[in-house]
Amino acid sequence: MEIAARSGLTEATVSRIVKQLVQSGIVIETGRGSSTGGKRPTLLELNRTARFAVGILLSDRRTTYVLTDLSGAVVASDEAAGTAHIRRGDVAATAPGVIDSLLEQAKAPREALLGIGVAIPGREEYGESGPRPDPEWRPEWDWAAVEQDLAKATGRPISVENDSTCAAIGEFWTTQGSAAADFAVVNLASGIGFGLVTAGDVYRGATSNVGELGHVILDVNGPECTCGSRGCLEMLAASKAIVRSALGDRAFAHDLALSGAPEDAPDDYDRIARASADGDGRATALIVDAARLLGKALVSVTNVLDLERIVLTGPALDHVGSEVARVVGEELSDHAYVRRIHPTHVQLSRNGRLASSIGAASLAIHEQLGGFHRTAAPQESADHEQSIRQRSTKE
Ligand SMILES: [Zn+2]
Repeated sequence: MEIAARSGLTEATVSRIVKQLVQSGIVIETGRGSSTGGKRPTLLELNRTARFAVGILLSDRRTTYVLTDLSGAVVASDEAAGTAHIRRGDVAATAPGVIDSLLEQAKAPREALLGIGVAIPGREEYGESGPRPDPEWRPEWDWAAVEQDLAKATGRPISVENDSTCAAIGEFWTTQGSAAADFAVVNLASGIGFGLVTAGDVYRGATSNVGELGHVILDVNGPECTCGSRGCLEMLAASKAIVRSALGDRAFAHDLALSGAPEDAPDDYDRIARASADGDGRATALIVDAARLLGKALVSVTNVLDLERIVLTGPALDHVGSEVARVVGEELSDHAYVRRIHPTHVQLSRNGRLASSIGAASLAIHEQLGGFHRTAAPQESADHEQSIRQRSTKE
């Protein structure tokens, strides 16, 4: 059996697993292949629409929902206000209704929903002596609390992971065929995150707080950062830094009707990005300066990791994605240590603004189907899954 040979499992184990997958409808038998001497092999195919998963991205600008099938294809999506404008309780109150409507749009039965993945800015591990939380990140958006709320509100297993890692998982999952073995994803949201896919897996670090690209130091004498260092990339080039620079030019801030209130930073940034896309030279100068600094940080990263491909994604790329990719690409082709040996390709995610939420859905699928559970599923849902299994066994 080819699967046994490739996986190193015994034929008996493979037969047992395949039987379970066929019974649950996840894999279908599509016929018989030609014999290479012995019995004609059974051909198997993934039944993509046998199960679905929901991915939710929580960002300051927006909350993005996707429903994907088992191949990572988005079959329905929706958007709601971001964390800058809602409270944690609002997500739990809204999510069940949104999820029902996604299932309805996709004509997917409720019992086919495997679980829910949530991509959240990685701010979990704050100790007494560790970095101070970002003052604009309200402590109510804590991973464990979001997970608990959603599990209670939906009765489904919830998987939570940081948004940059989710973006990397999403990118890897949906472009696996053509993906170079190792690549990085840069996620531009309220902060600047980095996810690394290496040897076919996502690098998670010790506590999933991997990829704080925003805290790469670019100016040792620069402004003090919440992490305790000075001159971090995030202080100089994240969307709030761009808003801060814009507010320094009173005429420009007035022309764009920028609010300047901290809770309006996502909307102010959006106005600047739109203005740049509409050809406003002052707005474009701010976006280009920030992209240049991001490029310099990525030159350092790729000098350490020798990356071939960097994928850019995240809500802060709305309207300005191609400009940012152009400037970052220029920095790398001019300054990367390996530039004479091979290019470092910089591209926008093919998943556009959905990369992190697709990755979150993928996480839910892998945790539920892969037998990898970081957290116990709520009892109701475990019973529910059990009943699906029993039903499919009977059939
Ligand atoms: Zn910092």
